[in-house]
Amino acid sequence: MPTDNDFTRILNWPGYRVYRHQIDERGKKLELWVRRKRGNRRIECSGCGRKFREFHDVSERAVRDLPWSAFQTTVYIEIYRVKCPECGVKREKVLQLPSKAPFSKRFEEAVGEACESASARQVARRFDLPASTVRAMDLRYLERWAAGRRKPALRQMGIDELYLGKKQKFVTVVSDLESQEPLWFGEERKKETLDEFFRTQLSRKQRGRIEAACLDMWQPYRLSLESQVPGCRLVYDKFHVLQHANAAIDEVRRAEFFRQGGRKRELVKGKRWLLLSRWVNLNTEKKRQLNQLFRLNRRVMKAYLLKESLSRLWEYRYEGAMLRYLQSWIDQLRWQRLKPFEKLAGMLLHHLEGILNYCRTRIAMGVVEAINGNIKSLLRRGRGYKNLRYLLLKAQRMAVTRTEFVTIRKAA
Ligand SMILES: [Zn+2]
Repeated sequence: MPTDNDFTRILNWPGYRVYRHQIDERGKKLELWVRRKRGNRRIECSGCGRKFREFHDVSERAVRDLPWSAFQTTVYIEIYRVKCPECGVKREKVLQLPSKAPFSKRFEEAVGEACESASARQVARRFDLPASTVRAMDLRYLERWAAGRRKPALRQMGIDELYLGKKQKFVTVVSDLESQEPLWFGEERKKETLDEFFRTQLSRKQRGRIEAACLDMWQPYRLSLESQVPGCRLVYDKFHVLQHANAAIDEVRRAEFFRQGGRKRELVKGKRWLLLSRWVNLNTEKKRQLNQLFRLNRRVMKAYLLKESLSRLWEYRYEGAMLRYLQSWIDQLRWQRLKPFEKLAGMLLHHLEGILNYCRTRIAMGVVEAINGNIKSLLRRGRGYKNLRYLLLKAQRMAVTRTEFVTIRKAA
């Protein structure tokens, strides 16, 4: 039979020894009772970190730890309270217990790591816990991770809006384009929303370091940037501009839809997604479907071609060339009677500086889009995040682990 000493060695909680154990073979349960080792007498206040030799009282707490083989393990630990002059009667600090929840640190870590590749519901089933407990544990795991990391200075920022559904509506997402991770979520998409980011998240000095901001042609954001970071260059990037082009296509499609009626309407139906996809991303069958649609309606085809050609605007890296290309694109609109595209052209001319800034500032392409896509995939998997802080940490962790993954692959 193993002794308490053997259990102490396998449990391996520094500073603690097992003084009693119980094995329930039928129920597959292992219970261990631990207390401080004789040499471990300095008790630390969990409030301020002050150390004490005397304690106020002691109680026992049950904590779930990692399983031993097929046995679910519970550790009963003696916890002291100290009478601290600063904090009053306060629980001692125990490294193995990061929070008030009845789980050991390494158990929470195992759950948190499992949550990186599976949904909370799946992890809950695996560990035999309620899903809400798993989410709370994952959140603590991520908070600890976030507290221990150093963040680089923000020099290029991305600003995007994200639609979360009928209830929460829009949130503003601020991201770091260089580290490729989201930094902050704010409710709504007003000037005040972005103002709040600058006010609460950055010092004056940090604001001064921002060189460029990548954003949508959305006035409230621009106004905030102009007042908070006047030296920053605004860049209207491809991703955001093409979103407007897609909206224009959709408007043309709907109008044509409405005009045609009857049998033809059936053929146009369900082609929305096709029209919003880039030609290069479509397979042969989808291309065939789209061609069929174009034979039916020239205006929809024209609209599609206009979007496709607009997307090539960002292949130009010289201001003059970019400007010439844009001018010829706008010239194509003449006699087409495509109102939504004329409106788009007006918008582009109105934001010309910010579009040309793409040539004056080296910003990574596609980052805003990738961050946006990551958050959306999290939302799909997690079936809604009521806690925005949790969603943010989750997206940050996702961005960072992905980077790590890439570097490992490069090294191999
Ligand atoms: Zn204290």
